[in-house]
Amino acid sequence: MKKARLSEAATGREAQDPVNPADGVWMFPGFGNTGAVETSDGIVLIDVPGYRWVGTMMQMLRDHLAGPVHTVFLTHGHLDHALTLDAVFDEAQDKGYPPPRVIAQKNLVRRFDRYRMLQGYHDHINRIQFAVPPGVSAFPLPKRYPDITFDQSLSVSIGGLDFHAFYALGETDDALWVWVPEKKTVFAGDLIVMGMPNVGNPFKVQRYAREWAEGLEAIVAKEPDILIPGHGNVLQGKEKIREQLLTISEALRYLHDEVVKRLNAGMWYEDILHEVDLPEHLKQSEYLAPVYGCPKFVVHGILRQYSGWCDGNPSNLFPPKKIDIQKELLSLIGKEAVIKKAYDLKEAGQTAMALQFVDIALADEKEPEEEKKLHRLKGELLGMMGDHEPSYIARNIFYNGHNEEMKLAGEDD
Ligand SMILES: [Zn+2]
Repeated sequence: MKKARLSEAATGREAQDPVNPADGVWMFPGFGNTGAVETSDGIVLIDVPGYRWVGTMMQMLRDHLAGPVHTVFLTHGHLDHALTLDAVFDEAQDKGYPPPRVIAQKNLVRRFDRYRMLQGYHDHINRIQFAVPPGVSAFPLPKRYPDITFDQSLSVSIGGLDFHAFYALGETDDALWVWVPEKKTVFAGDLIVMGMPNVGNPFKVQRYAREWAEGLEAIVAKEPDILIPGHGNVLQGKEKIREQLLTISEALRYLHDEVVKRLNAGMWYEDILHEVDLPEHLKQSEYLAPVYGCPKFVVHGILRQYSGWCDGNPSNLFPPKKIDIQKELLSLIGKEAVIKKAYDLKEAGQTAMALQFVDIALADEKEPEEEKKLHRLKGELLGMMGDHEPSYIARNIFYNGHNEEMKLAGEDD
């Protein structure tokens, strides 16, 4: 049967009420949060939500705040933060307000151009990562680019309040965070998400562990009382914010330094990947729960940032296709032995290893009924992997695979 997407709440998707942690400071929750600050010249927004949430956000905004939107800061160019600007511009036109201005870090423009070049790819991978159903666009393109961009930092005064935007590499190469000193408030974008930072996303371009840690430490140095995150709940209290941000930066720096140490010692990708993990006290931290990203992904991300694709074994420099190697193994060992091994491993709870043997068994043509049985076995194993997987991204990849295999097994519902 089809595996549903679990735990929408784990990614902050549950409907919540607006939060007003200080006079004139707001958070409108969604899959991506939208921040707002009231000034005497109008509203300053930090981000706009994804398409599914923009109607709710505009409603919440107008239930609580009046007057024009003066400026929108985009914390980065992801679709849950930056693509629904039209809703704000259309409203300004309807009400006769001047159009807002949009501020972003300069790399956001390059990102939007890349999205245009790779729309098909992003639609494909986002459909898997976010379990987007067929018929719904998984990757709408940006329609509106920023009016003002900057490199390292930008300070603006709006209606009596200062807004300082700072560049920080983290989840993206176009990330900014905003400090509003009069309100002791930071809008952190995706430098703060729920749980473990999503460095090393399996489908996406490079993300940055050590630089992410530096960004968190720069935020702590401002000693904010309020932090509005890109995802999840508002953080309040100087000490609490400090503790949470420094715990996350400690974990990122730990993983980073452990990978770097091993690279310098001459170790290769696979051994480093299997060896490096968080120490127990960080693994148990509520701030680092692997609900979206996970430590293994972070290790991949760091390895990819600093090394090439060769695994160190010259046999793998110009290797045959994996499926051709599997075919050779299959002809040597015989499919009965391979299939039996797969079932034995499944029985023994060695799900990941069992999957490798099913793949060998599937490498060659078989009787249609036998083929279906193997797809069913693979589907069951992927379903088991997903059922035990806390990371939303990893779980969706397993469940997507489960659903595909079950279709091949003739069990499409
Ligand atoms: Zn986000």
